[in-house]
Amino acid sequence: MNNSRFNQALATLSPNDAQALTNALGNQSFSGQIPASVIAPIQTQPEALPQWLNFAAKFAITPVSNFNVGALVIGHSGAAYIGANMEFAGQALSQSVHGEQSAINNAWLHGETGISQLFVNASPCGHCRQFIREIAQPHQLQVYVLGKDQIAFTKLLPDSFGPDDLGNKFALFEQPLQTFTGAIQSPLIDEIVKHANASYAPYTGYYHAIGLITSDERLFVGRYAENVAYNPSLPALQSALSQLRFSGYDIIDIKRSILAHKTEQKINMAEHYLSLLKQLNSLNLDLVKLT
Ligand SMILES: [Zn+2]
Repeated sequence: MNNSRFNQALATLSPNDAQALTNALGNQSFSGQIPASVIAPIQTQPEALPQWLNFAAKFAITPVSNFNVGALVIGHSGAAYIGANMEFAGQALSQSVHGEQSAINNAWLHGETGISQLFVNASPCGHCRQFIREIAQPHQLQVYVLGKDQIAFTKLLPDSFGPDDLGNKFALFEQPLQTFTGAIQSPLIDEIVKHANASYAPYTGYYHAIGLITSDERLFVGRYAENVAYNPSLPALQSALSQLRFSGYDIIDIKRSILAHKTEQKINMAEHYLSLLKQLNSLNLDLVKLT
């Protein structure tokens, strides 16, 4: 896969940073993660920040707004994860992925256990502030909006409605793993089930993940990240689509999609996902029940 989005993003970096990133990646293809060795300098050099947000914004897909959000989060491991917004022409605005959601999802899917810093090129919207509220230790998160002073996340969302308000003791990144098994088993299905077991659905119990298989047999799995305020939840399909574009793929490259889900819960999103997949790329959705 020639990742033209990545090549265009590289061109926004200084020659030194572009070289450092390509050297650090070595033979690995870009997946949205920037190794700690490359990103550590921006934590001490605020003047280097804008180019990395421009880098992230190159992955935005914005046919509706033409407003490209670039975000970056630093995970507990020290690695950074890009985020960019994503919109779907001809679809409801509620299908959109926000830049900050995309970055946090990226860190979560890469196995991070939390994030300590968020950099973004525009002030986080209310939807994103509520989404961020769901993560573990939100009071330790520092936010850097381009052109403004660093601010503690809790100052961006005072007097907030949080997981405790619905009696939830867990948080995104620290969610307990589920132990469901798929009604069908194969190495491919097992991988999607593994992600479903790592999904986050403390309010409804609708644990699930979606696997998207490309025509060249790459698998991208997205996980559901539920939110205490419901609407800012990140659906598993959006989680997978947001991730897939970092590797240079598009919706038209998907040939098969599989949903592994815990049915008979308070909600069910299968029809919702199928509707979007059909409209975007005439795709069906194979279903695997979790028991
Ligand atoms: Zn937002």
